[in-house]
Amino acid sequence: MNELRELRETVARLHAELTRYGLVAWTAGNISARVPGRDLMVIKPSGIDYDELSADAMVVCDLEGVLVEGDHAPSSDTAAHAYVYRAMPEVGGVVHTHSSYATAWAARAEPIPCQLTAQADEFGGEIPVGPFALIGGDDIGKGIVSTLAGHRSPAVLMRNHGVFTIGRDARAAVKAAVMCEDVARTAHLARALGRPLPIAQADIDSLYHRYQTAYGQPHHPAKEIR
Ligand SMILES: [Zn+2]
Repeated sequence: MNELRELRETVARLHAELTRYGLVAWTAGNISARVPGRDLMVIKPSGIDYDELSADAMVVCDLEGVLVEGDHAPSSDTAAHAYVYRAMPEVGGVVHTHSSYATAWAARAEPIPCQLTAQADEFGGEIPVGPFALIGGDDIGKGIVSTLAGHRSPAVLMRNHGVFTIGRDARAAVKAAVMCEDVARTAHLARALGRPLPIAQADIDSLYHRYQTAYGQPHHPAKEIR
């Protein structure tokens, strides 16, 4: 069970990144991680202050979203996380935020066009918009999966709601959430000041391929989940 303990610690620690990068307000936002090789996930408890999100406060659910271990009720977004893990076996981490700039694009149901090399690197094109869906049940999960399936982007802007990101592990999903807000903010500023220029598709493809296969340290596995 040491592995589960480690994962609880990792998920608890990663929640500090959401506040560090200013992606969340109050108790909104959540991170989960799939327990490798088991039909379980570690996820944030519902309605607990970020300062109190220790490893012990994390909860373990099965992939139907049913609480298996923990002292608190799981996040109210647990059904959405569980749906993603059931539908996308390659996904090891899921993050949800209402980060301001990205969510402003979601409020307009406007995909973020690819106008920055950093966006081409991380997202491989535009950041897409998913459908409007009410919380509870499988609607949000279905919307995430149907939008991201076959898309390079690890981030989806759920209409009128916020951001969901996926990754091979929870850390990769957190990185996507941070980068999504970063490019959303710059795209917003560029639009406010004038007319942003698109990047040619061939250049987007080239940037994405290089970043996903050659960037970073040797032996750092490339993201190959999509
Ligand atoms: Zn939400």
